[in-house]
Amino acid sequence: MKPLYFDNNATAPLREEASRAMRDVMGPPANPSSVHGFGRAARLCVEDARMSVAGLAGCRASDVVFTSGGTEANNLVLGHYRHIITSELEHDSVRNAHPNIRLVKVLSDGRVDCNDLRERAMAVTDADRPTSLISIMAANNETGVLQPMDDIAQIAADAGIMLHSDMVQSFAKLIMEFSGSGIGYASLSAHKIGGPSGVGALLVKPGCALSSLLKGGGQEQGRRSGTENLIGIAGFGAAAKAAADDVTHYSEMSGWRDAFEDYVLSRLPSVQIFGKSVPRLGNTSCIAAGPKTAETMVMAFDIAGVAVSAGAACSSGKVQSSHVLNAMGAGDAAARAIRVSGGWATKEADFETVADVFVRLYKQSN
Ligand code: PLP
Repeated sequence: MKPLYFDNNATAPLREEASRAMRDVMGPPANPSSVHGFGRAARLCVEDARMSVAGLAGCRASDVVFTSGGTEANNLVLGHYRHIITSELEHDSVRNAHPNIRLVKVLSDGRVDCNDLRERAMAVTDADRPTSLISIMAANNETGVLQPMDDIAQIAADAGIMLHSDMVQSFAKLIMEFSGSGIGYASLSAHKIGGPSGVGALLVKPGCALSSLLKGGGQEQGRRSGTENLIGIAGFGAAAKAAADDVTHYSEMSGWRDAFEDYVLSRLPSVQIFGKSVPRLGNTSCIAAGPKTAETMVMAFDIAGVAVSAGAACSSGKVQSSHVLNAMGAGDAAARAIRVSGGWATKEADFETVADVFVRLYKQSN
């Protein structure tokens, strides 16, 4: 069997369009700030990529600040504020990015408790309001659960507090209209949509302040110093262009994912699917089944030719207990949850194969 890749929420395969765009700019001297012909060609390439990213995000090109990825984008915006209201569901690059964080309660379905968010937002004093930020991700990387961003934007507006959303996982999977939304800042990452890793963007609405984390040459209109990563940015732009029709693909995928989950539910006892009762990304399934730890099962899947991941975040090759599933009150199931995540290259037949492998491996492990 051809190895199957079902770990797209960790990173997606590089698109041919992105690979070609990067090869095209590799070689010539390319500092976009230089005034000579080489520099001007590099500047054109950066601005073309900026327009492609803005096109997919539904914003103005000038709102796009290129960064080294989603992690930097999150750190960049949080670093500008003194008080952060966020949740336990966030990626570590939000949870660990600031010393002054207040955590909103999480419901067992994987959504933030909007009543608690409203209470906390309304309790912010007049003096602290201008230096406070609400940061809530649009879609969770482990469960795929979508947060009610329109309701959250209304709460932020009522409380007069700026709103940031980590949109790394929802970008290109859901229709995005940043300009028309009530969100002031959004974080994106190229490698989740088929671009290279090490490049991403922070979207910043006009009038939303930002201080550069990196002090230096004042690139990106003084918002992110450092010579632009032309190769990465070219790859990001090409991936964004190629992902223009991905929303349709992911909407179709939700049917394949549901069929996979139904197949598993009908053949295995005591299966738990996290976030199943609420809106989720169409590509993600976070499932606990059987007594074995996720770590053991991920290895069994790997031997069977299917790359999946533990529901728990995996960093430096070590599986840690999932803060997301723990926050949802998953108990011991948190250590047994497997994440299956399709991507831009995934086909319906791949979900059918993974369903067969899933049931076979868990039947053997019982
Ligand atoms: N935010 C979320 C929700 C993510 O899933 C990730 C990556 O796993 C990041 C931020 C970090 O993005 P990057 O890998 O580009 O730094």
